[in-house]
Amino acid sequence: MGAESIITGITRGGTAWTPQFVTALSEQKCIGCGRCFKVCPRDVLTIVQRAIDDVDLDDDDEDDDDSDNSFMTLSNPMDCIGCEACSRVCPKACFTHQALPLAV
Ligand code: SF4
Ligand code: SF4
Repeated sequence: MGAESIITGITRGGTAWTPQFVTALSEQKCIGCGRCFKVCPRDVLTIVQRAIDDVDLDDDDEDDDDSDNSFMTLSNPMDCIGCEACSRVCPKACFTHQALPLAV
């Protein structure tokens, strides 16, 4: 009964803060650039190699730092603190975030 309580916090300055936790990562859109891995403060993400059959040989990616031969995965999503740093740096909008209910 009533509204479900969600996980919330507060900034040092006293402003309400609602963590937006990662709930999905699109392996299809991901170009394996590793930006999210570099900024994530937790142990959430792991990059893995694509199976050779999935590699796009006609890749038109213009950034030499990016590699379509790999993609990021949510290897430990339960460690996410919902900071959204990953989405701020992701060039392909791979992440889905949600506020989540308090654990019961
Ligand atoms: S929201 Fe923050 S903690 Fe969670 S995966 Fe993204 S960067 Fe890591
Ligand atoms: S920043 Fe985005 S495109 Fe780059 S590895 Fe992470 S999820 Fe993939």
